[in-house]
Amino acid sequence: MQRMKEPGADVDEKLARLVAELRRRGYRVTAQRLAIARIVFQTIKQHPSFMQIVEAVRKSMPSISPSTIYNNLQLLEQLGFIKSFDVAGETRYDEAKPHVNIVCIDRGEIVDLEDEQATRFIEEIAKKYGMKVREVVVEAFCSEDSSEGASGPG
Ligand SMILES: [Zn+2]
Repeated sequence: MQRMKEPGADVDEKLARLVAELRRRGYRVTAQRLAIARIVFQTIKQHPSFMQIVEAVRKSMPSISPSTIYNNLQLLEQLGFIKSFDVAGETRYDEAKPHVNIVCIDRGEIVDLEDEQATRFIEEIAKKYGMKVREVVVEAFCSEDSSEGASGPG
């Protein structure tokens, strides 16, 4: 039996949970709100900035205002579907589930450390200090150029 998830199944599942949560809390469930949420859920793995989300949303909704998008992001964060954190003075959005992020300072890229040890590390911090871990960020210099002693003609 195939257990592979269809691509997008994860996004659909999140959207279904979002609809239920919006209704439960008395928010309006509009087509626009769901369309924005779908794009956010589709791009969240890339740790997009606000402007990147605006660009992605405007591909299908060119006339939408940034403030509408911003308000929807705020709501998604408030409802616990996404979170935001600042990297080099820029707000980046991410999946809500706590995990270890590796930030490449040179390029501003962020990748998730998909590792069992990292998951255990977060659980141990939570247990040992009685805290709810929100986000773990490891800042790193990724560029080879920043190593000292580079030689040879440029
Ligand atoms: Zn992440």
